[in-house]
Amino acid sequence: MNEDYLVVGSGLFGSTFAYEAAKRGKRVKVIEKRDHIGGNIYTETLEGIQVHKYGAHIFHTNNKEIWNYVNQFAEFNRYTNSPIANFKGEIYNLPFNMNTFNKLWGVITPEEAKAKIEEQRKAAGIEKPTNLEEQAISLVGTDIYEKLIKGYTEKQWGRKATELPAFIIKRLPVRFTYDNNYFNDRYQGIPIGGYTQIIEKMLASERIDVELNTDFFAKREEYLQEFPKVIYTGMIDQFFDYQFGELEYRSLHFETTILDLENYQGNAVVNYTDAETPFTRIIEHKHFEFGNQPITVITKEYPRTWKKGDEPYYPVNDEKNNEKYRKYSELAGQFPNVIFGGRLGMYKYYDMHQVIAAALSVVKKEFHE
Ligand code: FAD
Repeated sequence: MNEDYLVVGSGLFGSTFAYEAAKRGKRVKVIEKRDHIGGNIYTETLEGIQVHKYGAHIFHTNNKEIWNYVNQFAEFNRYTNSPIANFKGEIYNLPFNMNTFNKLWGVITPEEAKAKIEEQRKAAGIEKPTNLEEQAISLVGTDIYEKLIKGYTEKQWGRKATELPAFIIKRLPVRFTYDNNYFNDRYQGIPIGGYTQIIEKMLASERIDVELNTDFFAKREEYLQEFPKVIYTGMIDQFFDYQFGELEYRSLHFETTILDLENYQGNAVVNYTDAETPFTRIIEHKHFEFGNQPITVITKEYPRTWKKGDEPYYPVNDEKNNEKYRKYSELAGQFPNVIFGGRLGMYKYYDMHQVIAAALSVVKKEFHE
C-alpha cells in the first residue's frame, strides 16, 4: 500500500523502471498478468538448458553504457549470432557474406561477388520497385532473393512477397568479407544462467512488490485512482478499449521438444528459407551457452496471423496501423499520470538494448535528472 508507482508488466521496460525508481527510494507495485516475471525475455530451465520461451534472444548493442548497465545483473558469455539458412537441404551462412556467395556461385573474391550481384540486378531491370519482391531483387539479385529471402519473408508475413510493400526492406545487409557474425554491434552475448535472473535482480528490492497473475484491466479504474503514477507497458489500444480499432501484430507459435540426442543441428539458429517448411526457424537452445548436456531442447517457430487474445509479437507498422497508433498516443496525452512504455505501450519493435535505453530515458525525465 501507499506505493508511489504502479508498473503494469514485468518485462524489461517495466522492470528497469521499477529498479531505478526503487533505487531512488520510491515504492513500486508491479502487476503482471502472466504467471512469471520477465515478459518476452523470460527463460526457463529445461534439463539444465536455458530455454528462451518467447523466441530466441541475443543481447547486442553498440552502446557501452547500456552494455555496462545490463552487465550489473548478469555475466554474459561470448556467444556470437551466426545463423545458418537451410534451403531445401542446401546450407548457407547468414548474414549474406562471402561464405554465402562462395557457396551460391563458387566466387572467391569480393570483386567477383559484387559483379555477380550487379549482373543479376541489371538482368532483372527493376528501376522503381513497387513491392517487396522487386525491392529485394533490386538490392541483392535473383539468387539470394529466391533461395534466402522469398520463402522466409512470405511465411513471416503470411502474404506473397509481391503483395508486400517495398518499404519493409529498406536495405539488406550484404557483407563482402568472410564474416558470419549477424550483428555489427561491438557488444554481444547471452547471459550465463539465462535472462530471467536479470529481471529477478531488478525486482529484488524490498521497495518493490510484485503481483503475478494480475491483469490491469480487472481493476483499471481502481488502479488509476489508487496510484499517483502508472507505468503502463501493455497494449496501448487495449488501454483505450480499442476505440479507434485494433492495432495489428504478427504472432508466433512455438513448439518445444526435448530430444534424447546430444546435438541436433550444430547451431543455435537455423532458418528454413523455403516456402514449404511451415516453420521459419529451429532454435537449439544449448548452443547459446555452449552446453554439453547429453540431451538437447529445440523449438520450432511458426509465424501466425494475430487475433485478439493471441500473444502480440511483432507490430505491423504500416501506414494504417501507424495512423491508429498516432490517435491512441494523442489520447494518451489526456492521461498525464500514465506513462506508456515498452514495445506494446509504444507499438514499436524494440530490441532489448533499445528498451532499456527507452526506460532509462523515462527515468531521467520522471526524476528530473
Ligand atoms: P514485454 O517483454 O512484452 O513485457 C510486457 C509485459 O507486460 C509482459 O510480461 C506482459 O505479460 C505484461 N502485460 C501486458 N498487458 C498486461 C496487463 N493488461 N496487465 C498486466 N500485465 C500485462 N531483442 C533483442 O535485443 N535481441 C533479440 O534477439 C530479440 N529477439 C526477439 C525475438 C522475438 C520473437 C521477439 C518477439 C522479440 C525479440 N526481441 C529481441 C525484443 C525483446 O523481446 C524486447 O525488446 C523486450 O522483450 C521488450 O520488453 P517490454 O517490457 O517492452 O515488453
